[in-house]
Amino acid sequence: MKFYIYTFGCQMNEHDSEYMASVLLEKGYSPAEKESQADIILVNTCCVREKVEHKIFTKLGRLLKLKKKNKGLIIGVTGCFAQLAGEEIKRRMPQLDFVLGTQQINRLPAVIDSLHSLLKEWDKMLKGDKQIKSFPCRFHRRSPVQAMVTIMEGCNNFCSYCIVPFVRGRERSRAAEEILREVKEAAVKGYKEVLLLGQNVNSYFDPSNNGTSFVNLLIKVHQIDGIERIRFVTSHPKDFAYKLVETVRDYPKICKHVHLPVQSGSNKILKLMGRKYSREEYLEKIEWLKREVPDIGISADIIVGFPDETENDFQQTIKLVEEVEYDGIYSFKYSPRPLTKACQYPDSVPEEVKGRRLMELQELQKRIQFRKNQSLVGKVFEILADGVSKKDPHALCGRSSNNKIVNFRGGPELMGKLLQVKIIRAGPNSLFGEKV
Ligand code: SAM
Ligand code: SF4
Repeated sequence: MKFYIYTFGCQMNEHDSEYMASVLLEKGYSPAEKESQADIILVNTCCVREKVEHKIFTKLGRLLKLKKKNKGLIIGVTGCFAQLAGEEIKRRMPQLDFVLGTQQINRLPAVIDSLHSLLKEWDKMLKGDKQIKSFPCRFHRRSPVQAMVTIMEGCNNFCSYCIVPFVRGRERSRAAEEILREVKEAAVKGYKEVLLLGQNVNSYFDPSNNGTSFVNLLIKVHQIDGIERIRFVTSHPKDFAYKLVETVRDYPKICKHVHLPVQSGSNKILKLMGRKYSREEYLEKIEWLKREVPDIGISADIIVGFPDETENDFQQTIKLVEEVEYDGIYSFKYSPRPLTKACQYPDSVPEEVKGRRLMELQELQKRIQFRKNQSLVGKVFEILADGVSKKDPHALCGRSSNNKIVNFRGGPELMGKLLQVKIIRAGPNSLFGEKV
């Protein structure tokens, strides 16, 4: 029996897909190379932005055609959109075999068991589980180099635009001991890099009474032999402390990259978004990072066209981006999401204005990235080779500690190795180098 998993959305979702793959492997399934070879297809969904939902329904519609030809094919929908709109999905597509939201994912093994005995079970959409999912012992990871490790799930911040607290539930941290065990197991299996995942890693707090904070957790992960690099996402500016900056500075295995979503450069919009920091406070934290860790790579998420965003508000975002000179941004047009506070506000910025602002922001960012990347030509970086280059099938790619993507000539034997690479050319999104 073979399985195929589609993933929509963020790294959290990718990691959830790894969890689902592990459950299926435990149950005796093996991965299929193509959907047409699969006996079970899972569509792991996202609902953070409205656009993705249309893509999900299109995908499901296409998969259901496969099911018409192959009656035994099992199709399940999981993830945030399943949590949010499980009933609607079932109503629109009753041919699906099951729908399991993010807060019921603990039930995947039981659902798979019941499918085994040909008992199709519709999820009852009961209240969410409060526990963090328990991980199968043979965890299936997509990358041979980087192990993603959940340190916390859910979120308590309720930013006014964001659906995450509703679909992923309240914040709960995983016991430090369990996290460290998982990282050690990954190190034994040869993983060089660990990516610690949470919606707001800065508020991590070990629930098992010994009070480990995020900084303490980082230091404990740093002590694990075999792990050469530690990354973490996402940091929330309101909880981003000076101690963390010092820790990034002082511990060499902690990568010199911080993803610090700003969302807007206007204090008025930040307030409406419920972000609980001001433009000035944010910029102060950027200043700490640049001062203490001179080669730091900084990235952010930015939303344009939030309700009531005037041209002046948007220009404040533009000025902030010029001032920070990010190494990368993820930028989005605001889309109203059900259940959130902001969806009660009129979506006042016309679609065409949102589009223009997004383009202006992205063009500015492209220029900044190109300029910054060009200044790196001639420098040597330590690169962890982690895949085949998208630009050239005969080349490899990897990342520097500060998260620059570097392509270079090399064979598969170099995968997972830390290499010194000299930059010879720069584009806006990636660098090209030679191994030295
Ligand atoms: N927890 C992280 C944080 O606080 O930044 C990231 C959460 S969310 C999965 C990823 C990004 O999606 C957010 O940072 C935000 O920029 C964007 N996003 C969330 N809700 C959105 C909405 N309704 N419209 C547009 N973008 C949105
Ligand atoms: Fe959403 Fe805000 Fe929580 Fe991030 S911090 S997940 S944007 S509510």
